[in-house]
Amino acid sequence: MAVEALRAGYGGEPVLHDVSFALAPGEVVAVLGANGAGKTTLLRTVAGLVPVASGRVLLDGGDLAGVRVEDRARRGLAQVPEGRSVVAELTVDENLRLGALQRHRGRARDAAVASVYELFEPLARRRTSAGHQLSGGERQMLALGRALVAEPRVLMLDEPSLGLAPIVVAQLMGVLRETAASRGLTVLLAEQNVTSALSIADRGIVLALGRVVADAPAAQLAADTALRHAYLGF
Ligand code: ATP
Repeated sequence: MAVEALRAGYGGEPVLHDVSFALAPGEVVAVLGANGAGKTTLLRTVAGLVPVASGRVLLDGGDLAGVRVEDRARRGLAQVPEGRSVVAELTVDENLRLGALQRHRGRARDAAVASVYELFEPLARRRTSAGHQLSGGERQMLALGRALVAEPRVLMLDEPSLGLAPIVVAQLMGVLRETAASRGLTVLLAEQNVTSALSIADRGIVLALGRVVADAPAAQLAADTALRHAYLGF
C-alpha cells in the first residue's frame, strides 16, 4: 500500500498536504502526531471515506481512485475505526461471523472464526456473550477480530489503545505484531500512545499539521528526543 502526494480534507479545506509513503508487505507502521495532526483523516482517506483532492492511494500498485469503500475491503483493505464499534446486541461469535460474511461461507467461515479465537483467548471464553457485556479491552479485541476474520492484507487501526489498561494494550499490541509476522499482514497503526505503538512498529511516520515531518525506523524515532519533544509531546 502506498500514498503519493496525497491532499485530502473536508469541504474544500485541506487537512493532509503532500503526504507520501509506502508500506512493504508485512510491515507494521505507526502513524504518530499530536491531536488534530491528521492521523484519522489519513486512515479515512485510504479507506475511501474522505475524498482525495489530489495525489493517489495505491494498493498492489493500482490506483484506488473511484473504488468504493466496500470494494476496497474486498481487495484486502480493512479498517478498525476509533471507538471499538461492535454490534452490541449480537454475541461475540455472531459479530465474528458477520465480519467473515463478505469473504467466506460455510466451513471456511468456521475456520476463519476459529483462527481469531486462537489469537484472542479471552474472546474464545466469551463467545456467547453479547457485545454490550464485554469490557473495553474485549470489545477492542472483538473489533480487531472482526477485521481479521475477513483475512485482509492491509489493516488500518485508529487509536486501538485509547482508554485501555496498560496490560490490555500490551496484549493487543502483541497480537498485532504476531499476526503481522505470521500472516504477512501489513499494519498501519494510528496512535497517541507513542511508546506502545513504537514498541511493535518497524517504522513510524510522524504527522504535524497534515504533513509528514519524519519517516524513520521505530527505534530511531523512539531515541530522537528533539523530535519527540517537538511533535509528540514527551
Ligand atoms: P485525533 O488524535 O484528535 O483524532 P488526528 O491526528 O486523528 O487527531 P484528525 O482527526 O484527522 O486528526 O483531524 C485533523 C484536522 O481535520 C483537525 O483540524 C480536525 O478539526 C479536522 N477534521 C477532522 N474531522 C473533520 C470533519 N469531519 N469535518 C471537518 N474537519 C474535520
